Amino acid sequence: MPITLDIFSPIHRWQHPLFTEKGLNVFIKRDDLIHPLISGNKWRKLKYALLKAQAEDKNHLVTFGGAYSNHLLATAAAAAQFGFKATGIVRGEEVQNDTLFLCRLHSMQLIFVSRDAYRNKPALFEEYFGSDEQAYFIDEGGASAEAVQGCSELVNELPRVYEHLFCACGTGTTAAGIITGLQQHQLFTQFHAVPVLKNGEFMRDEINRYLTIPFSYQLHTDYHFGGYAKTTPELLQFVQNFIATTGILIEPVYTGKMLYALFDRAQRNHFASGSNILAVHSGGMMGLLGMKDRFTTIK
Ligand SMILES: *Cc1c(COP(=O)(O)O)cnc(C)c1O
Repeated sequence: MPITLDIFSPIHRWQHPLFTEKGLNVFIKRDDLIHPLISGNKWRKLKYALLKAQAEDKNHLVTFGGAYSNHLLATAAAAAQFGFKATGIVRGEEVQNDTLFLCRLHSMQLIFVSRDAYRNKPALFEEYFGSDEQAYFIDEGGASAEAVQGCSELVNELPRVYEHLFCACGTGTTAAGIITGLQQHQLFTQFHAVPVLKNGEFMRDEINRYLTIPFSYQLHTDYHFGGYAKTTPELLQFVQNFIATTGILIEPVYTGKMLYALFDRAQRNHFASGSNILAVHSGGMMGLLGMKDRFTTIK
C-alpha cells in the first residue's frame, strides 16, 4: 500500500475556570486522533522513515523499545498497514502485557535481549539481521532526522499564531521537529519542552543536535514526578480530573505531565492575559492501560 495516511488532528479548546480567570485561551492539538495505535507523534516520526525504507527497497522494519513502548506498537501497526515485515527488539527478560500482545497481533516478531545487550543497538541489528538485505534499522523511539522532518509538519497545520506551544519530551525528537517547523514558518512562538524523565537538562542537547539554526525555548525539568513512568497521587488526580472534565483521554507518562506543567505555569501567572496557548496531545493511550492499578481512587 502507498505510504499515506490522511491525518485528522483537529484543535480543541480546553475550558477551565482557571483559564477564564487568567484570560488565557488554551487549545489542544489532537494528534492522538491520527490513529488508535500509530498515534500522535509516532505517525509523524515514522512517516519519512517508512518512505525511505520503501525507496531503498527494504521490506523489513527492525526497531527497539521497552516492553511498554508506544513506538514498538506504532511500528507494528504501521508495518502491517503498509506491507512491511517487522521485528521489535525488546529490552529485558521476556514478559507479557497489552502492548506486546498488540504488537504480536500485528505480526511483529519480538526478540527479548538483556539490558546490557540492549545498549548497543547497531550491534544487535548486525547480530540478528546483518545478512538480511531487506532489514531497515529504526532507532529506539523512532529518533532520526526523518522523524524531525515528519514532526515539523505539525506546524503547517496550525490555523493561527500561538504565543505558547507545549510538548512532552521522551527523546526530544518531536520537540526538535516542532521547533524546526516554527523556524521554517518564522514564528516567534514561545516553545515549552517538558521532559518526562528525571534530570531532564540533558534534553536540551538532545533537541539542539537536530536544529540547524539555534532557537531559544523553555525546558521545564520539574515535572517528571519522580522519573520516567513514575507517578504521584497528585499527578493521577490531575489526569483523572482532566479526563472527567474534558472527555479527552490522556495518560500519566507523557501528556499528563506536560498538561500538568501547562496548568501549573498558568496558576503561577507565567502567561500574559490574552495569550493563546497550544498543547500537543501526542497520543499514547496504551500507557494508560498499563497503569490501571495506580488509579486507586477510582472505585
Ligand atoms: C513517544 C511519545 C512521546 C515522546 O516523543 P519524543 O519524540 O521521543 O520526545 C511523547 N508523547 C507520547 C504520547 C509518546 O508516545
